[in-house]
Amino acid sequence: AEQTYDVVVIGAGGAGFSAAIEAKSAGANVVLLEKMPAVGGNTLISGGEMNAPDNWVERALGITDDTAELFYNDTMKGGDNLGDPKMVRILADNALTSAEWLRDDIKVEFLPDHLFQFGGHSRKRALIPVGHTGVELITKLKAKTDADQITIKTNMKAETLLKDESGKITGVTATSGTGDKITFHANKGVIIATGGFGSNVEMRKKYNPKMDEKYMSTDTPGSTGDGIVMAETIGAKLTNMENIQTYPICNPETGVISLVADSRFDGAILINQEGKRFVEELERRDVISKAILAQTGGYTYQLWNQGIADIGKTIEVHQDEYDQLVKQGLLFKADTIEEAADFFKIDVNTLKETINKVNDYAKTGKDLDFKHRGGLKSLEKGPYYIEKAVPSVHHTMGGLVIDEKTRVLNEKGEVIPGLFAAGEVTGVIHGANRLGGNAIADIFTFGRIAGKQVVAE
Ligand code: ADP
Repeated sequence: AEQTYDVVVIGAGGAGFSAAIEAKSAGANVVLLEKMPAVGGNTLISGGEMNAPDNWVERALGITDDTAELFYNDTMKGGDNLGDPKMVRILADNALTSAEWLRDDIKVEFLPDHLFQFGGHSRKRALIPVGHTGVELITKLKAKTDADQITIKTNMKAETLLKDESGKITGVTATSGTGDKITFHANKGVIIATGGFGSNVEMRKKYNPKMDEKYMSTDTPGSTGDGIVMAETIGAKLTNMENIQTYPICNPETGVISLVADSRFDGAILINQEGKRFVEELERRDVISKAILAQTGGYTYQLWNQGIADIGKTIEVHQDEYDQLVKQGLLFKADTIEEAADFFKIDVNTLKETINKVNDYAKTGKDLDFKHRGGLKSLEKGPYYIEKAVPSVHHTMGGLVIDEKTRVLNEKGEVIPGLFAAGEVTGVIHGANRLGGNAIADIFTFGRIAGKQVVAE
């Protein structure tokens, strides 16, 4: 079968949704293709936090010295300067506008009085959607596409990009869940928003042999790198492919990211089996992951108390995950440090020494061991929570090379006409390592640009 639209968007995560909405509002007839039975991708299952420098919540909390420049510097440095400076600049300059668009046009609700400071950020600047997950984002985006009457086709796997004699991309072939082959023609262009390849072990190993079967993944099964392969086949250039990020705090049995453990951003500490801290808890994900793997057993315990739990309320907002972890014996609530140590057979005296030091550092505001950048919190009072965790593959920094207008470039650095890309499928922003809260800022900033650009060209 054949169908014709102005714009074909592949992949219904945050990048794809925002591209589709912008293309539609610019007057195009749009179809959004999603290979899974449900929309949302990794955006849906993420924490949903979004960095935006100098945002309204920062101002409400009295943080008045954040700027796009600081955010730019943090992001470049966080990626070991392997991100493309002109693209990171676009992200830094537009992240706030993207957040305001989500708030005002898409009606996403963000917490009015709480922010996260993810590792590598010099300011607390990550907005938190209500519910602390991407569900709020995707629910509201879906409502907007419904209101705008944008066609979404789930169970529709895009497979091959189509090119005309001039080299312009004119559409894509796809296979439906029932095996029907459909050709989607695109009068204006195709936007690839298929996300990363964290769930594709073979592809991970092809680009970075270290990222093999020993790692589980936090990603949805849809994250298999289809868009990267599709575009590479027609000559697109790839970059940063070896840079694959593990998220440090994940379920040791399933690889699923722990959002209950977001208490780390409110002051939870990490200890090893011996009961000692071994890394700054707000370090970059790659640094923490590496440090964890170097400890006995290749795992860590995250420890916090009720005082820290009450700040972000991560247990209440992720109650299902909490119950599951407790049932699996991976998280324990203890009245005392002794009980916490006993549950996981950690040396009590060492753990107590560690906690005493943390309490001292909390008082003086100076972490003499690891320079905790958020300031440690006192762990004098219980009850305590202790959770076992391992790193798991989370984000693939590499992907397609795009220019400022999100046009996909070929091996020679030339624009491939009719082809655009945004989101995790691209490889130009995060360099060696993506900072927390930067993916959501990235996908909406460049998703929106792609949606506008495809119509403007
Ligand atoms: P981003 O954060 O960049 O928006 P996500 O992971 O949130 O990325 O979303 C990417 C979406 O693309 C997922 O829902 C995934 O299932 C979908 N997808 C991946 N490959 C294909 C494909 N070949 N055809 C259609 N959809 C795809």
